[in-house]
Amino acid sequence: MPSIALTREGTYLDADQVPQSSWEALKAASVMGDFLMPCCRAPAILKTSLNGVQFFAHLADECATAPETVWHREGKSLVVAKLASMGIDCAEEVTGGLARDTWEADTLFRVGSRTVVVELQRSYQHLRDYIRRQERYRRSGVECYWLTRPENIRTLVKATSRERMKREWGGKFPPGQSSFSPLLPDFPVAILALGEQAEIHSLGLVRNTVEEWLRAIVEQRYLYNDGRWDIR
Ligand SMILES: [Zn+2]
Repeated sequence: MPSIALTREGTYLDADQVPQSSWEALKAASVMGDFLMPCCRAPAILKTSLNGVQFFAHLADECATAPETVWHREGKSLVVAKLASMGIDCAEEVTGGLARDTWEADTLFRVGSRTVVVELQRSYQHLRDYIRRQERYRRSGVECYWLTRPENIRTLVKATSRERMKREWGGKFPPGQSSFSPLLPDFPVAILALGEQAEIHSLGLVRNTVEEWLRAIVEQRYLYNDGRWDIR
C-alpha cells in the first residue's frame, strides 16, 4: 500500500504528510490522472484503510510490475519524499565517480559537506559485490547505506556473520559467547518492509519508520556497534 504517488508536476505526494481532512477533500476533488502509482505510473486513486492509513491504489486492475521492481520504485519514492519533508533535495539515478571507478546511485542527497547515497538492493547480490560497491563510493567520498528486501536478508546475514568471524575470530565462533550480531562496520544494511505502512527493520525486533531511519543518517545517529547498525 504505497503512501507515495507521482503528481502531474512530476513530484511526489506523501499521503502520510496530508492531514485527514485535506485527504478527504483531495479524494473528492481529484480526477483521473492527477496522481500516478510509483510502481507503473498507472492512474492512482486515494484510499484510507480500515486502520485509518492513507494510501494510493491502482485505479484499475492489478499492477503488472514484478514485485522486486515495485519494491525498488516504491522504496526510492519513499526515500525522496521523506527527505523532501525534512527539506532535503534527493535525486534518483545519479552517476558519479571517475574513469573506470564509476557508480550509479539509486538515490543521492547532500547534507552540509557530506554526500549520502541510499542504495535499494532488490535482488540477491554477493557480499563481495556489496563491499566492492561500498568501497567505490568511499573512494568518491560518498557515504552509502543499503536497504534490501526482506527476502534477501537471511542469505546476506549468513554471509556477513561468516565474514565477521573470519575477520575477528579467525573464522571461528567468538570464544565464550553463545551468540553474536552479524553485521559489518563497513557495510550498513537494513530491511525495507513495505506492508500497510513502510518500515525499516534492523536486527531483532527493532522497527523504525523510513523517516526515522533517514533522520538518524542525516544527524549521524545511525551507528555501528559490535555487529549491529542501530539508531541512537
Ligand atoms: Zn503499479
